[in-house]
Amino acid sequence: MNATTNATQDDIRNVIIIGSGPTGYTAALYTARANLQPLLIAGSADKKTSRIKGGQLMATSDIENFPGAIETGVDLDTWAYLDEAAQAEAIKDVKGLSGPHLMTRMELQARHFGTEMLEEFVTEVDICSHPGDFYTVKTEGGKEFKTRALIVATGAAAKTMGIPAEDKFFGKGGGVSTCATCDGHSYRGKTVAVVGGGDSAMEEASYLANLGIKVHLIHRRDEFRASKIMVQRAQKNPNITIHTFRSIVDLKGKPHPLAATTPFYKDDEVLTHAILEDPRDGSREELAVDGVFVAIGHTPNTGLFKDQLKMDEAGYLERDRHMRAIPSMNACNRKLHAMEHVPGVFVAGDVSDHVYRQAITAAGMGCMAAIEAERYIAEKLADEMGMDSEALDISTESIAHSHWSNERDQMGEKPMVERVVEAANA
Ligand SMILES: Cc1cc2nc3c(=O)[nH]c(=O)nc-3n(C[C@H](O)[C@H](O)[C@H](O)COP(=O)(O)OP(=O)(O)OC[C@H]3O[C@@H](n4cnc5c(N)ncnc54)[C@H](O)[C@@H]3O)c2cc1C
Repeated sequence: MNATTNATQDDIRNVIIIGSGPTGYTAALYTARANLQPLLIAGSADKKTSRIKGGQLMATSDIENFPGAIETGVDLDTWAYLDEAAQAEAIKDVKGLSGPHLMTRMELQARHFGTEMLEEFVTEVDICSHPGDFYTVKTEGGKEFKTRALIVATGAAAKTMGIPAEDKFFGKGGGVSTCATCDGHSYRGKTVAVVGGGDSAMEEASYLANLGIKVHLIHRRDEFRASKIMVQRAQKNPNITIHTFRSIVDLKGKPHPLAATTPFYKDDEVLTHAILEDPRDGSREELAVDGVFVAIGHTPNTGLFKDQLKMDEAGYLERDRHMRAIPSMNACNRKLHAMEHVPGVFVAGDVSDHVYRQAITAAGMGCMAAIEAERYIAEKLADEMGMDSEALDISTESIAHSHWSNERDQMGEKPMVERVVEAANA
């Protein structure tokens, strides 16, 4: 029981967060520290699908670009006193955390501050029946919750080739990846295939080629969706060979070098060959490759919000600068038509971003959505208690400032909902 639920109806949650990628865990950490006792519905434990608890990073090995998420043998308290040579040695040994380790750390941190976790898949969200009052969330396992605020952090899933062998090599350095900027560095000096004919395939191919990787660009037709300039750039790059009228229909590999010694890799294989097929006559050939980068687009996980929340043409959720969801044109049979945003529904991370698609940007958006949700609940609570939000300084800025650790530890700053309740009781 917390300040808010004491003050209002007990059976309605303050905040439900759907999704346990960097966005969801960050939103959970912030709303938990705000004393809102968030419920995080995390997705399933099914490791073979895009519904995996932990999100997209569960499928990758080392994360090298999440600041601070590193392993190092150095005692950080003595770091500044090491001589130059020792510092240079230590810097060489810095290693990024694996995706699963980073996500487990995020989970522990969110739970430490009071996040309640549920490993389930959400099958239905009712935005329409009580907008601005509460929202209903139903899960695959038959549970039903009501919540004042909802943070949508359901992410996106890279489209795959849809061939059976793909799962076997996906992630953990097995050879199939959907992100060249994330995994490309491990293929320096090697040979890879990039699948796709759009701008992102051209970009990934050029990015990899510029790392000194030999790239085979595989496209099933001889016309490209990519812009002319991007195709020309790929055609001119000496490290890129373009294969038109080819699809990858199968993959071959050999046991993972760590399979015998490391349980994590026990049944895994690493890629050695892609089998190409010419769709015009069905003829096949083997191509020796160490990696395959699939660049045929992403699908945002937004099916739950069809006819409720506004999406762009590709299905990504739209939001305003306060991370608030926008109602769709005919939302709820035009019931929400006049609203500029849906009160209490916030959208963050890859589910609303097809441009940056990084763990750090997703986490940043999760933080912003959480602060906005905290503000929404504090204002609602103040309103219910007949208090003046302005006099209480309920603003995004003051809430954000109240999250600084030293304000909490040294200045005795309290989460906003507690301040509202204290003011009401004074
Ligand atoms: C192979 C790969 C490697 C990558 N490497 C890097 C990297 O090195 N550095 C980097 O910065 N970025 C990397 N990225 C991108 C990064 O993973 C994403 O930008 C980031 O994970 C987005 O976070 P998110 O929380 O918005 O979404 P996601 O990580 O997609 O998480 C979405 C969550 O929502 C859950 N979910 C979806 N629908 C439901 C539902 N109906 N009910 C319950 N739960 C649901 C999913 O199970 C998942 O837990 C990589 C991506 C991939 C695919």
